Amino acid sequence: MRILLVEDDALLGDGVRAGLKQAGFAVDWSQDGQVAKLALETEEYAVVVLDLGLPKLSGTDLLKWLRATLSKVPVLVLTARDTVADRVSGLNAGADDYLIKPFDLDELIARINALLRRSAGQVTQNLQHGNIILTPATHQVTQHGKSVDLSAREFTLLHELLLHAGRVQSREQLEQHLYGWGEEVESNSIEVHIHHLRKKLGSDLIRTLRGVGYVIDQDASEK
Ligand code: CA
Repeated sequence: MRILLVEDDALLGDGVRAGLKQAGFAVDWSQDGQVAKLALETEEYAVVVLDLGLPKLSGTDLLKWLRATLSKVPVLVLTARDTVADRVSGLNAGADDYLIKPFDLDELIARINALLRRSAGQVTQNLQHGNIILTPATHQVTQHGKSVDLSAREFTLLHELLLHAGRVQSREQLEQHLYGWGEEVESNSIEVHIHHLRKKLGSDLIRTLRGVGYVIDQDASEK
């Protein structure tokens, strides 16, 4: 799941990016409104975390522009002051939720997950494949009803493959969901995560199509 973080405060931005990364999100971090606008024009995001006071283009103006494009991407606004006027202007501009600085990282992640649940569609649905059930809302995977311990990246990878069951995902497509801008991608990292998933969930779950990508075949019971 890819998140756009727009925050000009270097210390705060760095901390939030690290926290979201650890929670399994791919994070693109931009430090001004113009760069964020460009990112929104070219990439697809699951959620935008937006500071209002930004150089070049304010968060409020960026949000107004975004909503004018009819984009429905959930936006969580970070505001420095808790004044009713700020809150109202943010919500009027099209924010879905807001958080007052300073905030707790766990709370930010909980709010993001709530937004993901609300933003309709597949994101909210449990995904089942044979005896495996993946619950996006709680980041849980069970097999035969027993909880399976996956790393954040293994979870994201499994989620993507299940969402696109029956369709081959290339390594580049999968990397898009695991890594943000400027993050070092080791050339074999997808292979390593796939290897771990097979060890934990069974060797025949994920098929490799050499030179093409990976696929989880459609659940036989759903055909
Ligand atoms: Ca700011």
